[in-house]
Amino acid sequence: MINLITVDSQNNLIVPKDGTVIPIIVGDGVGPDIWRASEPVLTKAAKLSGHKLEFVETLAGQAAFKACGQYLPDETLETLKKFRVTLKGPLATPVGGGMRSLNVGIRQALDLYACVRPIKWIPGVPSPVREPNKADMILFRENTEDVYAGIEWPAGSKEADELIAFLTGNLKAKVRPNSAMGVKPMSEFGSKRLIKMALEWALREKRPSLTLVHKGNIMKFTEGAFRKWGYELAAADYGDKTVPEESWDGQAGGRLVIKDRIADNMFMQSLLRPEEYSVLAMPNLNGDYLSDCLAAQIGGLGMAPGANIGDGLAVFEATHGTAPKYAGQDQVNPSSLILSGAFMLEYLGWKEASEKITKALGAVVSKKILTYDLARQVGVTPVKCSEFGQAVADHLE
Ligand code: NAP
Repeated sequence: MINLITVDSQNNLIVPKDGTVIPIIVGDGVGPDIWRASEPVLTKAAKLSGHKLEFVETLAGQAAFKACGQYLPDETLETLKKFRVTLKGPLATPVGGGMRSLNVGIRQALDLYACVRPIKWIPGVPSPVREPNKADMILFRENTEDVYAGIEWPAGSKEADELIAFLTGNLKAKVRPNSAMGVKPMSEFGSKRLIKMALEWALREKRPSLTLVHKGNIMKFTEGAFRKWGYELAAADYGDKTVPEESWDGQAGGRLVIKDRIADNMFMQSLLRPEEYSVLAMPNLNGDYLSDCLAAQIGGLGMAPGANIGDGLAVFEATHGTAPKYAGQDQVNPSSLILSGAFMLEYLGWKEASEKITKALGAVVSKKILTYDLARQVGVTPVKCSEFGQAVADHLE
């Protein structure tokens, strides 16, 4: 009998059962390399913390296409819904397929509306900044709206021309003829549910502040509304637990300080004053840029965990792609998948197991046991992907 994860509907929290089974989408390209290196780390960390964790492979991408002629079979989506929490390697986007990308397909099918990226430097990891330890943030990026929603038409198309005619004729907007056209929808519903997830996370984890990152000075009715809805939600539903920065006297008294920053300023702040920020919530495009910018500070995408989370459903994934030129060479860095697995264990409430992994990974990196990507930055001989994974598993205690 499989122990399925349930959801505590009152607190919207995932409740794992002991013996929890997690589907794994191994993925394309370097997916099998990084999964072989990650699995022993995750299962051993769970075991050392008193939990039984099992993985069951579910197919997507090339492996699924070979097995049944579909890149994202319905059966896989059903499995993801049934088991609720999934771990995933990278998937290549099929060229000429009907779907924009398999990753987008999974996000849409499960309504995983938040892309969540913790940013925390592991001591010893090479970084381009002088004090990477100062960045300790978690980013909540809206996943379903904004210019990213894919509502756009090429220049000269019938749709673009019709839209231009409507905008210039009915709404007296100025648009150059023959423009390509894209639409930026941002709803109160979509923004508030994302901000709510970030707020709940911040309160649960006792974080000091939540910052709404927006470009509302220019895009007043979309990005500006995101800011407004954020403050409204905090005041209406969390008024006794939060305080807006403008009425904050420097003594929050255990309350969460709600700030907002214009996106360009936030990019600068993330480099100059990262220690002043903790939880960030933002629309899709801002989040796309800022999450990679912050990932660079802690060692790049190879060291960055990530997850796409919805209501009671989550897919934790390596943030990089399939790196096809390294596929099957046992060479790449498995840390992104290992750390996404650690983030998943934390999400399951198994914080101790998660901390064991980051500690072991830190110990390995500090000994300069590094895969090629980090080894070349400090001039040491690289180890293989599998050797790195084995070293992390050996350092778990
Ligand atoms: P990529 O696969 O992320 O690889 C770009 C470069 O990043 C690699 O050449 C390598 O750099 C470095 N890299 C990636 N993973 C690494 C790892 N584990 N360890 C060390 N270095 C790593 O990006 P891409 O080549 O643009 O995309 C390839 C395919 O992946 C595309 O089909 C794309 O659609 C897909 N993709 C999938 C996801 C996902 O599933 N979430 C995300 C992004 C892209 P060096 O060459 O400098 O060593």
